[in-house]
Amino acid sequence: MLCAFLLALGGCAGQLLDGDTVDAPESSEAPYEVEVREATEPLSPHLETVEIVTPAEGNAPPLVLKVYPKVVQQGDLFAVHIGNVPGDSIPSVYAMGTEWPVFKTRWNEAVSFVGVSYYTEPRVHRIEVTAEPGSGGNTPVYRGTVHVGVGEFESQRLYVDSQLQSLRSPALWEADRVHFARARASSHPRPLWEGAFEIPLEGRLTSSFGLIRYINDVESGRHSGLDIAAPEGTPVRAAASGVATLAMDLNVTGKTVVVDHGLNLFTCYYHLSHIAVEEGDEIRGGEWIGDVGSTGFSTGPHLHLTVSVGSVPVDPDLLFYGDPARLLPGSPKPAEDRARLSQ
Ligand SMILES: [Zn+2]
Repeated sequence: MLCAFLLALGGCAGQLLDGDTVDAPESSEAPYEVEVREATEPLSPHLETVEIVTPAEGNAPPLVLKVYPKVVQQGDLFAVHIGNVPGDSIPSVYAMGTEWPVFKTRWNEAVSFVGVSYYTEPRVHRIEVTAEPGSGGNTPVYRGTVHVGVGEFESQRLYVDSQLQSLRSPALWEADRVHFARARASSHPRPLWEGAFEIPLEGRLTSSFGLIRYINDVESGRHSGLDIAAPEGTPVRAAASGVATLAMDLNVTGKTVVVDHGLNLFTCYYHLSHIAVEEGDEIRGGEWIGDVGSTGFSTGPHLHLTVSVGSVPVDPDLLFYGDPARLLPGSPKPAEDRARLSQ
């Protein structure tokens, strides 16, 4: 049986449509060579290669770019490592039509997580890293690529009455979106999580990530997370440690909690009957943050969980199957990654 529960659609906040034609500004084209070499350890089932891009000559600082993993699917996330970062400078990362926050992991290393929307066109996408201007005043641009493959998403047809349908009005969703934007506008500069994320409650998975929804036979968007059905009042626990950046009753998503886990990774919990935390609270992984309910656009008690990089929802399984720190520079790369994902 298909899911009996209706949830907020269209992502935890705005969908990122891929900006194919938008390019980062360039003031100086540093020549570069591309070295492609085989990865020695699997980081994800899609990983095939790691690309390193460095300037071949000139006065540009020799930044080193690595893309982990090099091959992804719609709905995945990947990390851009930037090595050899000079001094206190922080480069900028531009990919999938937008700029992504960059975090220093060591004095000369930085990382940026990039979320790949389920709407992103499947093809090779360019990644551009812009260093801060050098002493010569030029702004070197370094380029790498990532291959985005087609994600596999289920589809679902739901029929609702006009009263419930009215809860999804654009105006109501827009009012919610303002709060989600505020909650995910910035992120802690260090990883606050430890280890793999954990499912926030026991229940029955009723709607998968990226599901294409048709409501009253009209395509209404994608499902931004997982739906887990459980009895009203079932405790919901934080998937990982972090800081609550939103804890309030919203129109479409009902009683909602957003947790910042650092480095632009967020989890969002919708339709709660009760919220047990306040904005600004530091939360430990597994800590009780609220109870399962059916508030907002919902027809039965369940938890909707969205995992996002900034405001771009990604497949929660990516964080449940392994510590996202495995994608950080210098981290051990667990060999069990592929084995766990293939289960
Ligand atoms: Zn949902």
